[in-house]
Amino acid sequence: MPQTIISKLSDLSRNLWWTWHPEVIAIYRDLNHSRWRGTNHNPQLFLDRFEEWEMMPRAEELAIDSRINYAFHRLQEYLSAPRLKSLGGAGALMAKPVAYFSAEFGLHESLPIYSGGLGVLAGDHLKSASDLGVPLVGVGLFYARGYFRQYLSADGRQQEVFGQTDIEHLPLQRALGAAGEPLQVTVETREGPIHAAVWRAEVGRCTLLLLDSNVEGNDEFNRDLTATLYGGDRRTRIRQELILGVGGLRALRALGYNPGVLHLNEGHSAFVVLEQARRLMEHNGMAWDDARREVSRLTVFTTHTPVEAGHDRFDDALVESTLGPLGDSLGLTHQQLMDLGRVRPGDANEQFCMTTLALRVADYANGVSALHGRISRRMWNKLWPAKEEREVPIGHITNGVHVPSWVAPSLMQLFEQYIGRDWRERIHEPETWEWVHQLNDSELWEAHQLLKSCLIGFARRRLVAQATRRKEGKDIVAGASRALSSRALLIGFARRFATYKRADLLMGDKERFAALVSNADRPVQFIFAGKAHPADEPGKEKLQRLFKLMREEPFQGRVVFIEDYNMNVARHMVQGVDLWLNTPRRPLEASGTSGQKAVLNGALHCSILDGWWAEAYDGGNGFAIGDRSNHVDPNVQDSRDRDSLFRILEEEVLPLFFDQDANGVPRGWVRMMKSSIASLAWRFSANRMVRDYLAQCYQPASGAAHRSGIMSL
Ligand SMILES: *Cc1c(COP(=O)(O)O)cnc(C)c1O
Repeated sequence: MPQTIISKLSDLSRNLWWTWHPEVIAIYRDLNHSRWRGTNHNPQLFLDRFEEWEMMPRAEELAIDSRINYAFHRLQEYLSAPRLKSLGGAGALMAKPVAYFSAEFGLHESLPIYSGGLGVLAGDHLKSASDLGVPLVGVGLFYARGYFRQYLSADGRQQEVFGQTDIEHLPLQRALGAAGEPLQVTVETREGPIHAAVWRAEVGRCTLLLLDSNVEGNDEFNRDLTATLYGGDRRTRIRQELILGVGGLRALRALGYNPGVLHLNEGHSAFVVLEQARRLMEHNGMAWDDARREVSRLTVFTTHTPVEAGHDRFDDALVESTLGPLGDSLGLTHQQLMDLGRVRPGDANEQFCMTTLALRVADYANGVSALHGRISRRMWNKLWPAKEEREVPIGHITNGVHVPSWVAPSLMQLFEQYIGRDWRERIHEPETWEWVHQLNDSELWEAHQLLKSCLIGFARRRLVAQATRRKEGKDIVAGASRALSSRALLIGFARRFATYKRADLLMGDKERFAALVSNADRPVQFIFAGKAHPADEPGKEKLQRLFKLMREEPFQGRVVFIEDYNMNVARHMVQGVDLWLNTPRRPLEASGTSGQKAVLNGALHCSILDGWWAEAYDGGNGFAIGDRSNHVDPNVQDSRDRDSLFRILEEEVLPLFFDQDANGVPRGWVRMMKSSIASLAWRFSANRMVRDYLAQCYQPASGAAHRSGIMSL
């Protein structure tokens, strides 16, 4: 009997489906809470540390059999449910699935192959595709050392530490070739071949393939290519991208997948279009021009940033040494190859840009919010000089988040109770969320208060651990254990410490900031988190200034910083704060998704009208900082936005939050929580997003529906 339990638990841990099913997570947690935490919520590592003699009595004591059996049964049911049940069928995609390429996938903190928003979006895309039954297979890279972990030194300097993931404790299995042998793919360069092993992860009903260059037969440099995410020099980067795009498609084909759609999540994987063209030329005898047209027909490209540095560029020599052999098999001269990635063909001074290649080839291109679509059309008008800006063939599909991954389990229970057991299937429908208006004010408020104290507990644990590691004095450690108060308005700010995100906007007026946090009647407190890119010196300086400020009165214990922002920290924060703050320099935030996670959980969103918020804010479902104008001088804009932010906090947010009835329920605030959830949850869900991709890109690209031309602009 215990054997069955253990093997069922181990089966459950091998499909990442568990990451969005809190009833499974609760089993691990109940078995041993501190060990569950201590293993970074990694079920395989967790189970490995259990001896059978220990598991059996514990399982019996908890009468856990039935919960395990139930979860196991639910997974089997999920895996065997008919595909595309609710989507009216998409026959062509069944035989020829979507191949979704991304340099990072954020599925769970225990699988550290992501750095931030792009990866988490890709993870959420996969999970929603699985829930909806869209035939889709993900392709990425396996980074054995992941992305850096962040610590702050005693003087607040960011320290970057790379771990070493133990692959045995990850839900990955070697993909096997036709003869049952471990599959290996090879890509050629002018400097010799690069080999890569292929791992597979199961994400519900979707498979994710991860390529790994750490194999025998590669020299030292090549073995390390995929070791770290966004690490290494330009040569490392272009080789990673060769493995992702070209190696990725070869892996798919070797495993019997015949993708009908190629979806490039950002430009990193754009070389895949060249490999697909090569295949068509080799196997179908097509000429380059025809092959290229054919590839265009099935390629979807999503661009993610209006920031110039976010677009990968490579010089002549690197392109030649890396892509030369592929260019030869396409019958292209070096000049022709380079021109595919250039805005001005023939301009020897222009580098090869991955975004340019992707935009030149893909018939379907989109930005990730309505505003970002507009900005992208302006930015890339140069590729279509004969067209008006509004005719540039880049549309938009606004990002969304995978609701079951980000909503608190206690709220999920409310959903189940009020919406019904099938709420997961109706996430994208506006009517689904009407229920919140029937909800009793105090019931919603109470649920939120519980989540808030949970976050405060989490923050205190982390703050104590951080202070201890920094060898702070006793008083600082003790202070950390009492930081934050559940009575204060709790504001969350967590994102990359990039300059344009302006984490220091409030710090720019220290006096006003101090007045805000030290007001005895209406106290405000802040939790900050986020990593600066290792090469971003200004970002690190901002972080250090924040660190110093937090040690001064009146900020101490009222403004705190949680180190090592990851999906776990994000989940706690978005589930427990009262207000989520976002202060990008417009229009540089392409979409942003953390605010979407927060509103699902009843936090109110207070943001610049940028990215998704520019189309989401309706005047009554949150707060808007500034208007839609941009001053040419960023310093002027910063000070205007700072002013606007303080004014909104002082005049709108605080009065609403602290106007509480005899039972401590802020009626007006709760009313706004409800209209926020009702108006935003469905619209900014990944289920709505994936359905949009299906209808506007996947189905037309696969020939499953009539082509409706380029997406609506
Ligand atoms: C959601 C998420 C992000 C993206 O949030 P933004 O609003 O785009 O900054 C980044 N990192 C983590 C860990 C996340 O969970």
